[in-house]
Amino acid sequence: MTELVHPRTSINEDLCYQINSIVDPKEILFNLFKRFEERAAIVTSGQLSGMVLIHLAHENNLPFRVCTLDTLRIFSETYDFFEQVEARYDIQIERIKPDPEEVDQMVSKHGEHLFFDGKDKQNYCCEIRKVRPMQRLLDTLDVWFSGLRRDQSEHRGLTPKSELVNHAGRSVLKVNPLAHWTEEQVWQFVSQYDVPVNPLLKPDKHGAYFESLGCVICTTRILPGEPKRAGRWRWQNAAASDNNKECGLHFAI
Ligand code: SF4
Repeated sequence: MTELVHPRTSINEDLCYQINSIVDPKEILFNLFKRFEERAAIVTSGQLSGMVLIHLAHENNLPFRVCTLDTLRIFSETYDFFEQVEARYDIQIERIKPDPEEVDQMVSKHGEHLFFDGKDKQNYCCEIRKVRPMQRLLDTLDVWFSGLRRDQSEHRGLTPKSELVNHAGRSVLKVNPLAHWTEEQVWQFVSQYDVPVNPLLKPDKHGAYFESLGCVICTTRILPGEPKRAGRWRWQNAAASDNNKECGLHFAI
């Protein structure tokens, strides 16, 4: 594998430029894990793109860090799936959890299912269970690998291969090595290399499937033809055209 990132490169526009010029996602992973070691991590909910990144990083024969946000409300299938992934790739996936005191305070004041009360309460729940844990994770990172792809929603249509995000007054390089891949390419890859797939992503007998892996209740299956983010918080923003449902993780932090 070719080293394309200079060993003394810091987090700046030049680094973005270098990364954007590398076509092969495996080479991007190689270069950044080699340069930033444990200050770089793949952050994934276990979706297909994240699994492709894990597979490619594993092929580089370099140590690599994988993290997931465990909101304490994810599906049992997903917990089981992560154990399967750990065994397959001989890795330890870091479960980043919310602050128990913050969760207790929120639940005792508003109830476990506060997200039914409206967008503000849903945002508050996502803030406590996802966004703040992500910020604590970012305290430990210079490079954040994400599996975002442009074809996942209209909102994600301009996803760059890499960008600088501000975190606590400094820049973190957010890298989306598969930004330009299509869903078809991802499925082809996992099939060709026998990459583990969370069973929730596979269609049931009605053809319905999970397009994204989130929390129980807030994430539901979608039917073919529905917008890809339609399965999120179905009781809100119910307009069929809504394809713009995000939890705050992928906004500027
Ligand atoms: S997806 Fe639902 S349960 Fe999960 S953090 Fe957001 S509002 Fe809370």
